Amino acid sequence: MAMKDPYEVLGVSRTASDAEIKKAYRRLARKSHPDVNLGDAGAHKRFQEIAAAYEILKDPRKKERYDRFGETGEAPEPSAGPPRGGPWAQQGPFGRDFRKTSPGGGTPGGGGFRWSGDVSDLFSDLFSGGGAGIGLGEDEDAAAAITIPFRDAVLGGTVSFSARIPRRCSRCRGTGHLAKAACPACHGSGSLVETESLTVRIPAGVDTGARIRVPGKGRTENGDLYLAITVEKHPYFNREGDDIVAEVPVTVPEAYLGAEIEVPTVKGPVRARIPAGTASGQRFRLKGRGIENLRTGTTGDHYYRVRVVVPTVQTEEGRHLVEALGKLYARDLRADLPRGL
Ligand SMILES: [Zn+2]
Repeated sequence: MAMKDPYEVLGVSRTASDAEIKKAYRRLARKSHPDVNLGDAGAHKRFQEIAAAYEILKDPRKKERYDRFGETGEAPEPSAGPPRGGPWAQQGPFGRDFRKTSPGGGTPGGGGFRWSGDVSDLFSDLFSGGGAGIGLGEDEDAAAAITIPFRDAVLGGTVSFSARIPRRCSRCRGTGHLAKAACPACHGSGSLVETESLTVRIPAGVDTGARIRVPGKGRTENGDLYLAITVEKHPYFNREGDDIVAEVPVTVPEAYLGAEIEVPTVKGPVRARIPAGTASGQRFRLKGRGIENLRTGTTGDHYYRVRVVVPTVQTEEGRHLVEALGKLYARDLRADLPRGL
């Protein structure tokens, strides 16, 4: 089983400093984060490799062990090392050490590093400082926030907007000073906020919290811009993960007799049946009529909750009809309710 060299994975030399390793890791992890590569099945694996490589190189003990024993080393524990050729060796030098217990489990058949931490754990850390117009520290990347319409998030689309992006000052090349004086262009900060019109493609299925990477639009031309996505609420369709929940009003006769009704879904109306005797608040499912999940490839469901609407027009005939309707209740609906505490 071929192990990937963690230095190679992070693209750093063996003599790289901790700061260089951390910087390389943050940049690569951001780039390959599954949430900025939605729909790209390989991204998750790349991200895991990067995270696993960093697990080793950020920890002086693990790093030293890797440096000393390399890919084929047996890596005995300093105190009570397992015997050579035992289960430890079969798992490879990193088999046990880095496998955290998590519901997600390890990478099946991935070989190489195992890293099974939760991707979302790293998310906020990687993109920290990623509010509107806020840069990502010394990095070449930049971040901005955008709000997109519900329709584009669910169905996919192209969104045009103008973003305020902190850019490296070209006058002083980001140093903040010219000769011995503060740079007049950026007032010594090394950065200038530029407003740029951008058009980005939104993959169908994104949700609030997702990031979209715009290559080459970061703090420098080598950096990328990360857009933090907020999805607008829809007045009718409520999103719950990959599912949609929405209410459908029905008449008293429809609820009593059962009916075929038209149910609006995000991808258009669907004819669906409600059974005779449907109660207000009852929920029904239309399988696969929700939102596509870009990571799993599955599609959520549409739930419609029935609301029985009583007619409001008062007529003499109506009163007679409803009095007749009242006789259909076999027993007192409130008989079993507690009278109080
Ligand atoms: Zn400047």
